[in-house]
Amino acid sequence: MTETKLTFRDLGLSDKVLKALDDMGFEEPSPIQEHAIPKLLEGKDVIGQAQTGTGKTAAFAVPIIERLDPKVRSVQAMVLCPTRELAVQVAEEVQKIGKYARLKAIAIYGGQSIERQIRSLHFGVDVVIGTPGRVMDHMRRGTLNISGVKVVVLDEADEMLDMGFVEDIEFILTGTPAERQTLLFSATMPDEIKRLARRYMREPVHIQVSPQQMTVPQIEQFFYETRPAFKTEALCRILDMEDVDRGICFCRTKKGVDELVEGLQARGYLAEGIHGDMNQAQRTRVMNRFKEGGVELLVATDVAARGLDIQDVTHVFNFDIPQDPESYVHRIGRTGRAGRTGTAITLISAREFGQLRLIERVMKTRIQRRPLPSVMDVAEKQREQLKEKLIKVMDEGQLAMYKEMADELLDEYDPELLLAAALKMISGDDKSATPNQPAAVDFGDTGAEPGMVRLFINVGRQQMIQPADIVRSIASQAGIPGNIIGLINIYDRFTFVEVPKDVAQQVIQAMQESTIKGRTISIEPAKRR
Ligand code: ADP
Ligand code: MG
Repeated sequence: MTETKLTFRDLGLSDKVLKALDDMGFEEPSPIQEHAIPKLLEGKDVIGQAQTGTGKTAAFAVPIIERLDPKVRSVQAMVLCPTRELAVQVAEEVQKIGKYARLKAIAIYGGQSIERQIRSLHFGVDVVIGTPGRVMDHMRRGTLNISGVKVVVLDEADEMLDMGFVEDIEFILTGTPAERQTLLFSATMPDEIKRLARRYMREPVHIQVSPQQMTVPQIEQFFYETRPAFKTEALCRILDMEDVDRGICFCRTKKGVDELVEGLQARGYLAEGIHGDMNQAQRTRVMNRFKEGGVELLVATDVAARGLDIQDVTHVFNFDIPQDPESYVHRIGRTGRAGRTGTAITLISAREFGQLRLIERVMKTRIQRRPLPSVMDVAEKQREQLKEKLIKVMDEGQLAMYKEMADELLDEYDPELLLAAALKMISGDDKSATPNQPAAVDFGDTGAEPGMVRLFINVGRQQMIQPADIVRSIASQAGIPGNIIGLINIYDRFTFVEVPKDVAQQVIQAMQESTIKGRTISIEPAKRR
């Protein structure tokens, strides 16, 4: 494990790019960035082999931006991606890193109006990020001139080959200047890729970020799968289910730390963030509060957490999965010290399974899957805690004074009702006993039955939606029992569904960006018509 890490500044980047990376919350280069960027700045051809999520985009985007010539008016760099989603993502990242360098990057892909792309290309762009099919299309129409391109990137090359793009790629490459710099990024290196590299690259430097084998102390490791938009809510439910005395939660960026802390604090959790932008006094204050127990969850980036001496951490949370297995080991090594068992919990999205499997392979351990607790699970857990609390008070004794009151009350009232009322009272007194649910929101008149809120969902009969799909989806996403869902009216292109007022906000939150029958939906309170 390397202890001394290079900074972006050490890589010799310009202030413009450094500032942009800082704005993005990147604190230090990932391994592939650390190794690839210097070679690329030298002008070398590079083959970069690393798993997804290791930061390959910035590894090529940073040197491209550094080497752009502001005086040139034609396309200077071209990135080929297998899918439109990736093209858009890469374009966004290039745009962000090039924020202060004032460059123009656009994504061109099938499915989007070609006229609009032609117009953008006509007004001049520096970096084109495209899918091979659409790039060829523009080449044939004469609307994209790549004869002045200095850098070509084949991103996710293995995927592009799997999708049958090899001939297109070769055609495109032959349309660019022979003295271009060629970069190829791929998770795997099948023969077909090696052949491409031999034909179209010049003495490529092969950079492979292959993790070393590592062993980890005895730590229970779990993962939860959740949609990215639902992560904060998911973390809250897990926090409610686990007995977290002191936890550290890792985010990928400083921005991520700030956003998560805000979200947790708004929901009433004792969370504080720590990252490189804070001055020493601020950091010390947070650390002291954490050590004294005034903060239950410390949210940090890898850099900020490095070198912190924190004892007795019961839980490590990976809010963002780490970029390489080494970081995973560093992170979870924070718990389970000195013979105690600790728990490490990782949140992943469907796209991050590969990274999780890699960590498992390298560490030779299994990370067990756990289903995300529903709102009902959380409420059940809180009921259990309330009972335990009551029994503990009973066991501690010293109740003489209260016994007298109890006798008096029992003379007059039903014991079951009395106890129920007492429980209600303590749960009301005690913030931790009420579930952390979004506050009830007044939606006004939505045209629903009394006590209900009518919600509008933008799918209907045309999407083959049936009442059971709506019930199943809402019940599972929002964690509410299906039988409390009211009237459902399905129309051709939309659906109305009524849910009880007190869970309406929760349903809206949980369903945001979720899918019904594979379609991403939007949901909102209905408007009275
Ligand atoms: P890959 O192409 O290897 O799959 P990406 O380039 O898409 O990976 O990066 C994955 C995520 O990590 C992105 O959200 C990106 O913004 C972020 N990221 C990349 N480099 C860094 C870094 N040095 N520090 C923090 N986050 C980073
Ligand atoms: Mg990528």
